[in-house]
Amino acid sequence: MAIAGRHYPRSEREFRAWFQTDGDCLDYLDWLRWGDELVCSRSGCGTKVPTRKVTGRVRRCPVCTSTISRTAGTIFEGTRVPLTLWFQAGWELSINKGGVSAATIKRRLELSSYQTAWTMLHKYRRAMALAGREKLSGIVEVDETAIGGKKSGKPGRGAAGKTRVAIAVERKDPKGFGRVRLQVIPDYSTKSLAAFLKETVEEGSTVVTDDWKSYPPATRGRYTHIAHNQSASIPKPHELLPGVHRVASLLKRWILGTLQGSVSPEYLPSYLDEFTLRFNRRGSEARGMLFFRLMGLAANAGPVTYKELIKAGYKGNRSPEPPAGKHRGPVSLAVPEPSRPWRMSATE
Ligand SMILES: [Zn+2]
Repeated sequence: MAIAGRHYPRSEREFRAWFQTDGDCLDYLDWLRWGDELVCSRSGCGTKVPTRKVTGRVRRCPVCTSTISRTAGTIFEGTRVPLTLWFQAGWELSINKGGVSAATIKRRLELSSYQTAWTMLHKYRRAMALAGREKLSGIVEVDETAIGGKKSGKPGRGAAGKTRVAIAVERKDPKGFGRVRLQVIPDYSTKSLAAFLKETVEEGSTVVTDDWKSYPPATRGRYTHIAHNQSASIPKPHELLPGVHRVASLLKRWILGTLQGSVSPEYLPSYLDEFTLRFNRRGSEARGMLFFRLMGLAANAGPVTYKELIKAGYKGNRSPEPPAGKHRGPVSLAVPEPSRPWRMSATE
């Protein structure tokens, strides 16, 4: 159980006080990953190594003397960006209700490159994908929507130029909603919807849908299926499936707002992961709680390179600039000893 003010910062003021140097950030990562001690992974060694009071970016086992980078196995592995900047980006991403855009991160962190800001945010989003893989249960509404293309909305099930997204939302009495799962699906076929259900909804749950023909065969044998007829007594779709309609409209508003409507199909899955983590954590009172969760995921997500991020082939016109030659990495936010520039004499 994470405690506010001890395990994660309660406020901007606390965040700044805790993470003043890159060493502070490394120590927090160590603590998130290992707690107070780790077991040396060198085969046959197994020495218990305390994780407190380590300096430098490399850890050395006192017995077998093998060394390991302290950022190895995190999304920060091999980064040129100082950890204070990474932490600041993670904090901004967490405490702003709708998240942040790469342009905002570039400005706030005073980065010279948009691509650096973009890459940092996508590495965090990739870590977010590790969260929320548990299946939904109970009464679950399921529907699909289409994102992108020229017009938003759901103009029938043959929407061209759009990315299809399946939505599952738990119903909670009396009128609330529980967790959500979202996934890009290739089409609205029985096969695709059955695969989505299998991955996201616990067997034996009750699945509530509209009367689309793929749902009866997709739910048969695994779920209790309730199909609402769109044209029957209750005329409005949001009354039939209030949960999925609410989530779909929040998702579209979020994409239009924070992301300014620009989401290419290749990156939609990572935006869905961010939306899911935010939605499923919406009840958290403490703003720093999401930061704690995010850094825990980032510490264990494994490295990813810019090349891997764009491997899917980014075709949108808002593609980040390619790396332009060699340039120095961003400057750390760490200020070990404030220099009090206002007291300097004119000759200094
Ligand atoms: Zn060892």
